[in-house]
Amino acid sequence: MAAWILLVEDNEANVLLTLAVLEREGYEIRVAGCAEEALERLKAERPGLILMDIQLPGQDGLSLTRQLKADPATRSIPIVALTAHAMDGHRELAIAAGCAGYISKPIDVNTFGSLVRGYMAQSQYAKTPREPASSPTRASARPRSV
Ligand code: MN
Repeated sequence: MAAWILLVEDNEANVLLTLAVLEREGYEIRVAGCAEEALERLKAERPGLILMDIQLPGQDGLSLTRQLKADPATRSIPIVALTAHAMDGHRELAIAAGCAGYISKPIDVNTFGSLVRGYMAQSQYAKTPREPASSPTRASARPRSV
């Protein structure tokens, strides 16, 4: 299956911009607007990467990150925090929560794709975009849905 990314983001404008950039890079993106939706998706499937907004309605992104890192089923999925420029303290908190790194919002459309590609390259769940998987994985056992 193609590499896919779970975007946890509640802001519609951020979702649309992020989708536009990453689809151009060849990634399939699935969006969750809150922690609950993200957890529901992760019950069945493993993304190559999770892009995690920190400020979410209900459970926040840091808390969700800690929860996923405490669970053996999801612990090894890399999580990259999406942090607002103005909130520098969030970056340290994101790393402390278990994030592999962080990317500033609003995203820079010229660099975002390559940053994400770099994180995907380190993910054991990621495959090269638009290329078939070379070996079967548990995550690919499920047929891809639209
Ligand atoms: Mn938000």
